[in-house]
Order: sequence, then C-alpha cells, then structure tokens
Amino acid sequence: MTESRVFRGLAAAPGIAIGPALVYDPVSATAAAPTGTATDEFARLEAAITQADATIAAHEAALRAAGRDEEAEIFAAHRMILADVALRERAAELLRSEGQGAAAAIATASEEQARELESLGDDYLSARAADLRDVAVQVQRALTGARGLGEQLDGPTVVIARDLGPSDLMSARREHLLGFALTAGGLTAHSVILARGLGIPAVVGLGAELLEHAADGATVALDGGTGSLILNPGTAEIERLRAAQASGAAREAALRAEVGLPAVTTDGQRILLVANASTPAEASTARAWGAEGIGLLRTELLFLERPDLPGEEEQLALYRAVAAELPGMPITVRTLDVGGDKHLPAFPLPKEENPFLGWRGIRIGLSQPEILLPQLRALLRAGAEADIRIMLPMVSTAAEVRQARALLDQARAQLAAEGLPHAARPQLGVMIEVPAAALNAAALAREADFFSIGTNDLTQYTLACDRGNSRVAGLYQPLDPAVLRLIAMACEAAHREGRHVAVCGELGGDPQATALLIGLGVDELSCAPGALPHVRSAVRATSTAAARTLAARALVADSADEVQNLLAEVERP
Ligand code: PEP
Ligand code: MG
Repeated sequence: MTESRVFRGLAAAPGIAIGPALVYDPVSATAAAPTGTATDEFARLEAAITQADATIAAHEAALRAAGRDEEAEIFAAHRMILADVALRERAAELLRSEGQGAAAAIATASEEQARELESLGDDYLSARAADLRDVAVQVQRALTGARGLGEQLDGPTVVIARDLGPSDLMSARREHLLGFALTAGGLTAHSVILARGLGIPAVVGLGAELLEHAADGATVALDGGTGSLILNPGTAEIERLRAAQASGAAREAALRAEVGLPAVTTDGQRILLVANASTPAEASTARAWGAEGIGLLRTELLFLERPDLPGEEEQLALYRAVAAELPGMPITVRTLDVGGDKHLPAFPLPKEENPFLGWRGIRIGLSQPEILLPQLRALLRAGAEADIRIMLPMVSTAAEVRQARALLDQARAQLAAEGLPHAARPQLGVMIEVPAAALNAAALAREADFFSIGTNDLTQYTLACDRGNSRVAGLYQPLDPAVLRLIAMACEAAHREGRHVAVCGELGGDPQATALLIGLGVDELSCAPGALPHVRSAVRATSTAAARTLAARALVADSADEVQNLLAEVERP
C-alpha cells in the first residue's frame, strides 16, 4: 500500500475534500506557440486578447448575475490588466525585436511585470502578480488552444498546483472541483477569495515538496479548516474526515433552517441583525440570509474609478435600489468615506505625510459641501419612501456632528423650497472609529441619534497600527482590551442618552465575539451577508447574564490573547 503523508499549509477556505488528485500546471498547458511574422503575430495577439477579454467578461457577468459582486470585481480588474497599454506595447516590442511568437511575447511581458510587483515586498502587490499571470495565461490559451483546468477535469477531483488563477476556478464545473491545494499562494490571493465565496475547500502555502510526491489519480484529503493535506490517506483517516464533512454539512443545513428566526438571546434580548453592503445585489443576498436591514451601506464604490462625481439622481437611484431589496427595513447609509488609502479620481486629494490621520471621511465632507450636500439631498429624498438612516464616518468631536446636521438642515430647506419629497427627520448617527469618539461619547450621544462602532478603524487608531501593514499585523487585534474598553465606554454613554449602538466592523461578523459584544452593551450587529447565519446562531446561543460576565472579565484582561482564551471557553452550538 502507498505510504500516507501529511502536509501542512494555510487554512484558506473551509471545508473537507477527498478524492483523486490532478496535478495541474497552467503554464505548461499553454506552451509550444507556433510563430509567424511579427505583423502576423501581432494580429494574432490582438485577436487573442479580444477572445480572452470575452471569456473574462463572461466570468464577471456570471458572478454579477449570482449577486456575487465582490468576486465579480476580481474579473473587472482582470479586464483592466488586459487593457493595459504598457503590457501590450512590451509584448509588441518582443515580437519585433526578439522574434518571439505571440504566446511567448505575452508570457514574457506579463512575467516581467509580475516579477516587478513581487520584488516590491508587499503582500498585496505580490498577490496581484498572480492575477497578472492568470490574465496572460488566458491570452496564451486563446493563441494555442491549450486546455484550461475546466477542460482537464472530467469528474470530481482535488486539484494540486503551484498556483491557480481565478479564471482556472471559474472554468471548472463546481461538481468537478472538490477542492484545491496550492504549494505557493497566500491568503489574500484572489483565487482564495473566490474559493471562499464559491464554497470550495482550499489549502495554500503547502510548499514545493508536495509536487514531488503527488501524482495524478492518487487519493488526497484536504481540510481547508485546519490547513492540512493528506496524500494517500488510510481508511481510518478517510472515515474520520468523512464524519467531519457530514457534521459540517449538517451544521450548514441547521444554519439555513434558522434564517427566518429572530436574533434573540436565550433570555429574550432582541439584537438587530443587519448587513454590510455596497450594492443592491449584496443587499439582495443579505435579505436571502435573513438580514433585518442594512447596517452599513458603503457608498465609496459609486465614487471610485470614475473621472467625475456621481450626481444626486444617480446616488438617489442607488439608495432606492438598495432600499427596494429590503422593503420597510432600516437602511443605514454611510456618507462618503475617502481619504486614508482611498482616493477619489474626481477630487484628487493632496499628498499627505499621514493620510490616515489627515483629510479623511467627514473631515472632507464638511470642508467640501459640493461633495456632501448632494449626497445628503439624495439620502433625504430616498428617505421619503424608506427608512434611510444617515451615518457619518471618522467623527472625532461633537462639533463635527453639529456642522453635519447644519448641512443636513440646509439640504432639507433646499428640497422643501424645490417642492421635492424628502424625509422630515431621518436619524443621523456617527461611526465610532477613533478613540476620541469613544472618549467623547457622552457629548456625541447628545448630538447623534445612534452609534455604529467601526472596529476596523477603531483597532488601527487605538493601537496606532496601520490596518494594511503586515509588519504591524501582530498588534492589530480587535480583541485587545484597549479596544473593548472603548466599545464599553461608547455603549454606556449612548444608553444613558437612550441611543442604540451597532457594531459594523469585521468584529461584528465574528460569531466567536458575538456574546462578548452583547455583554459590552451592543444592540445591533452588522456584518457581511455570508456571516449573518453564523452570527444569528451565536446570538441565539447567548444568555445576556453570561455575556455580561464574559465582558466584565474581558475588560480587565491583560491582552488580546487572554480575551481570545476567554472566548474559547464559551460553549457554542
Ligand atoms: C470600520 O472601520 O470598522 C468600518 C466598518 O469602516 P471601513 O472598514 O469601511 O473603514
Ligand atoms: Mg472605517
């Protein structure tokens, strides 16, 4: 019998896959390009780019149609890579000066760019190199007619590869792709994001040694929840994993069965369970998972990647479309939050020494009413027919809320004068994202109608560590007692004024933290649509008394690790 061998990598997408292996090499699938004259080859290259663009556009459209906007954006970005003039020009140069064939030229040109990205030592840019290679492989395939992953799978298979591009995943039939294991790859790769969205178990970063041992047809078992892969597992291993697979499926079914049930603790405290979204499609997915409204509508998407500012009517159409997905439910819309690492082509921001401490969020809105006023007008108008709540990002002081309210009054007076229907007095809330907002919570609670805690930024500003900088990622702990004390402070101050408090940062979607947040005094949880069933289930398993005890212990803990240990003690279904 063949020897069983265990490999350990990174847990990339949860789930267990057991089946025969296919060792896949996207690059060799595209080798051996025939060559003609440089002019012929250039014409072939252009035609192949058009063909690859059509394939990628079809992937994008399929995901959009399924309401998977976030994943669709991956392919929108791939189309931009394909349209990149520099890539095309470099390939053309290689055709002319080095007599390369079209397939070799696009491969060389993209590889040069990919290596350059990788050399910058940034995890995010390194992951983008994989996108670039994926796009180039699509063009090479269009030129050579080589078979992609989807065409090589003829039954349920576990794919083993050095790396896989998003297009490979999209080309495979879901029932044929049981899971995949990558020897390279990181957790931010687009193929990983896609796998999570599509529910394909995945393990990455397994190391090149795996390729030396794996062979087509060998049985493999991978566990995307623990990051392990067993080559040639024994019968006992297979049985253990099949049992775990079955209980995972049963848990998934139980979560689905709870979709229509309220998010209520065992002793009857009602938690409002709402979703984070950017588009009507995401709002629709949220409704399917039982969201009771939108707790954070991020509006940046409408403003980014376009040369002009969206007008009032265009904004109104978006807010109406989102509200139409969740009729009668609260829709909390955050006013534009750019600055920091988000830039606005229509309104270039000055280069700053410390952009995260600079002109960002409400600070821009208040000093540039030509941006905020049309947004407030659109929100007031959408509020004529729906429960639209307005939320201000990056607030530090009560004075900022007063200024925003004055602008809101101005927008309302304009609409009244123009005879346009609008909300009489929509709720105006603030995000608690900087320590000053939590420390000034009493004053803010007198000015604002509600709080929503943005734990992503609150963590970065409290611990003074950039949320996107992998060098300080160890410090970035939303469970750090310092962050928790600020959350407790904000809840206390809000409740004293009769205001409610939501959490809309990533921590709100972590079912492990649900009891803790309820214990700290949070009334509403807003999370990504896919996290809703998990958070609902966690709320329904929580007793308020136990949650308060847990929170009291966490507030006096010494470290995030200690809090994590406390959470691990909580029994969950
Ligand atoms: C947050 O900071 O927690 C938040 C929800 O806002 P964003 O992630 O959009 O900055
Ligand atoms: Mg934020």
